[in-house]
Amino acid sequence: MSNENTLSVQALARKNVQELTPYQSARRLGGNGDVWLNANEYAIAPQFELTQQTFNRYPECQPARVINRYAAYAGVDPEQVLVSRGADEGIELLIRAFCEPGKDAILYCPPTYGMYSVSAETIGVEGRTVAAKADWSLDIPAIEAALDGVKLVYVCSPNNPTGNIIAPDEIRAVLEMTRGRAIVAVDEAYIEFCPQATVSGWLQEYPHLAILRTLSKAFALAGLRCGFTLANSDLIGLLMKVIAPYPLSTPVADIAAQALSPEGLAIMRQRVTEVTNNREWLIAELEKCACVEEAFASDTNYVLVRFSASSTVFKNLWDQGIILRDQNKQPGLSGCLRITIGTRAELQRVITALQPLPGATATTLNDNQNSPRKEHM
Ligand SMILES: *Cc1c(COP(=O)(O)O)cnc(C)c1O
Repeated sequence: MSNENTLSVQALARKNVQELTPYQSARRLGGNGDVWLNANEYAIAPQFELTQQTFNRYPECQPARVINRYAAYAGVDPEQVLVSRGADEGIELLIRAFCEPGKDAILYCPPTYGMYSVSAETIGVEGRTVAAKADWSLDIPAIEAALDGVKLVYVCSPNNPTGNIIAPDEIRAVLEMTRGRAIVAVDEAYIEFCPQATVSGWLQEYPHLAILRTLSKAFALAGLRCGFTLANSDLIGLLMKVIAPYPLSTPVADIAAQALSPEGLAIMRQRVTEVTNNREWLIAELEKCACVEEAFASDTNYVLVRFSASSTVFKNLWDQGIILRDQNKQPGLSGCLRITIGTRAELQRVITALQPLPGATATTLNDNQNSPRKEHM
């Protein structure tokens, strides 16, 4: 195609789309890795068989078995559950239902998950940020001061990539200040690793609370693309107005229902125990490595680690086929890499690769402060 034609297609796109940088998903950041610890996936594929073959028919928009099983699992009513193509679709549906492009804003607190800003940009809605405090707690007065024009606040708990639970008091403070003004979406993608921290019991009290969930993490089904939004039925009804007519294919609904069966839930809980044990082992081993400045505590299936020379560490492991997630560009996270909890053998390879690397020197400290990261987010 001629250059002229290509240019005119570019010019036809919406302005915010022209300016958009696509989400740097783990799969886009390829490499020749054989140890994938960059996307918070489970290391081993669970096995399923399809029980439904009615592919000539359109699927149910909200498959009843999936909704009922998820409601029972989450301890809410079926009319408080929406199922979607991953939690990522839930993030986007909320913006589409509540934010007027070019007028309203969403608010979130970096360092945090990247899709809030990407979805807002795609739709043409302002993404306003209020940085978390140095200890990663929410800056409640700063959030309150920034609420003008905000229709939607995202709170990620436990937070990705830092791994900490947001204190219930802080989530409550945000819910109180937004009454009648904005929706609060609490992203609980990792809640299975700390089930006591859920705010699902607060739905009665807060009509403007939405909770995001997923089968991608503790349920080991990132490839299925299945997530949930929990909220009161009025809010769910609004999301139903903007969701696609058939968001889940028949095989997805079939497998999701199986994953949410009593046996599926038991396997998920075993997996959580195994991942938690591996995580604590990894943290203890990391603390013995000279190149590690700090391995942060985590309530999830990943650990955030500050290195004395993170770009060297990242590249060194990359060259050995071990792919981590670079978090250097996030506010307050210079020198930090995120490591997904893989199998014990995979984590052993990480430790073996880290052990020979030196600790802080004048040069390596310099490396952290002065070399901007170009390729990896
Ligand atoms: C992984 C993740 C999601 C996305 O989940 P999907 O169901 O795979 O779309 C949402 N929020 C956070 C914080 C995540 O880490």
